Amino acid sequence: MSAPHLIWFRNDLRLADHAALIGAAKAGPVVALYVLDDDAPGHWRMGAAQRWWLHHSLAALGRDLAARGGALVLRRGSAAAVVPEVAQAIGAAAVHTLTHYEPWAKAQDAEVARAVTLKRYHGALLAPPASVLAGGGGRYRIFTPWWKKLLEQMPPPRPQPVPDMAFATLPAGDDLGDWGLLPTKPDWSGGFEIWTPGEAGAAARLATFLAVAHGYDAGRNLPSQEGSSRLSPHLALGEISVRTVWHAVADAIPAAQAEPYLRELGWRDFAANILDQFPDHGDVPGRAQFDDMGFRNAPDDLAAWQRGRTGYPIVDAGMRQLWTTGWMHNRVRMIAASFLVKHLLVDWRVGERWFWDCLVDADLGANSLGWQWVMGSGVDSSPFNRVFAPLSQSAKFDAAGYIRRWVPELAQLPDAVIHDPAAAEPMLLRAAGVTLGRTYPRPIVDHAEGRARALAAYAAARG
Ligand SMILES: Cc1cc2nc3c(=O)[nH]c(=O)nc-3n(C[C@H](O)[C@H](O)[C@H](O)COP(=O)(O)OP(=O)(O)OC[C@H]3O[C@@H](n4cnc5c(N)ncnc54)[C@H](O)[C@@H]3O)c2cc1C
Repeated sequence: MSAPHLIWFRNDLRLADHAALIGAAKAGPVVALYVLDDDAPGHWRMGAAQRWWLHHSLAALGRDLAARGGALVLRRGSAAAVVPEVAQAIGAAAVHTLTHYEPWAKAQDAEVARAVTLKRYHGALLAPPASVLAGGGGRYRIFTPWWKKLLEQMPPPRPQPVPDMAFATLPAGDDLGDWGLLPTKPDWSGGFEIWTPGEAGAAARLATFLAVAHGYDAGRNLPSQEGSSRLSPHLALGEISVRTVWHAVADAIPAAQAEPYLRELGWRDFAANILDQFPDHGDVPGRAQFDDMGFRNAPDDLAAWQRGRTGYPIVDAGMRQLWTTGWMHNRVRMIAASFLVKHLLVDWRVGERWFWDCLVDADLGANSLGWQWVMGSGVDSSPFNRVFAPLSQSAKFDAAGYIRRWVPELAQLPDAVIHDPAAAEPMLLRAAGVTLGRTYPRPIVDHAEGRARALAAYAAARG
């Protein structure tokens, strides 16, 4: 038998449309490896919610490989050391992997390539970030021109099926259960049951979305509806390839209806493009004037935000949805993030870290892009003085049903006042069983005051 080839899975936990797996399977018998490396990402070590997802996703990948006569070898430690060690132990002719753009992934690639033959493949994104270049050969920092340029390469190639594989003898690995990825004391994951991690779960979620994809543009901004695809956690761990999603949507609905969705997939690539250019985008503002922003150290306000007890129902609904399910509607992410950084004047990095720990779809590129966009500090951002007004956003995007679902103590309030209970007639509150300050908090900051304080801090930071 020829020498084995090591397929090193990372945030691409799937068998279909996986260029590195195809490359390895073509070359010889394969050994499949996943390495849990908690040191390389430093303080961007995978957060608690995504670790729950990872556990189930690895279990699913292991089952899918077993169904084909193989297995997934699990090892824990520095990937830069473990990957070459396993490759050498099995006498691998080469290591095959998809290219990822987090700074630690790039560093791992460089180290592994120094020790063994590393074959890297494109496949985590629609296009390699460095392939989308402006006329003069420079990289883009603004979405719209970047998107126009990306479209010249689109559609992406059609997805490839799972290759035929032969499996080599496996080296010893860890037991998934020993990794402690699941929460135990306490087990806060009860609300995560809405999800089905793994490649089959991702395919099922895509199929569910395709049935309503024609209504995406109208529905995606309405948190009370399930109008978006909710594929983000599957895409974040690569259980489905982005080009599979692209073609499924483009094939299912007319081009004009598909475009708004394909553009969102574009934002995912754009986020990787920014991270590739600015590896510290999760920690350092894209614009220097934000270096000296006078953020508040406000632990009580922060705790109220984290727990969904700010007195702003749309913010509280979003924060509770995040805590319970590991996911939050995109419109509400923007409102809740803006509330933290502007109304409460808390450092965007504090919110970014909370999202990182709570989101099942945590992605360094998308998360830092989202936070810096809301803050106004990113290279492609909304202006700082755009302060989302949580009350009018809540009414405009018809969030009454969403609030009833996630803030049940307000459920009996009529639509007209549920967005702003503090302004409701006492009689209406009484009839709905709401006592402000007791059954539901009063607003922890006044909208106009919070806005004015944020603008003053920004003016001071700009000197
Ligand atoms: C403050 C903030 C933090 C965020 N953090 C993350 C994060 O950690 N991980 C993450 O995947 N998304 C993040 N987003 C982007 C967006 O909120 C989610 O991708 C989206 O809500 C996921 O739901 P969906 O799958 O139903 O999206 P859909 O509307 O169905 O979009 C399809 C896919 O496109 C991609 N996408 C959509 N919008 C964006 C965007 N703005 N940026 C990058 N990719 C996008 C996602 O992969 C998504 O699954 C963040 C947004 C904000 C404002």
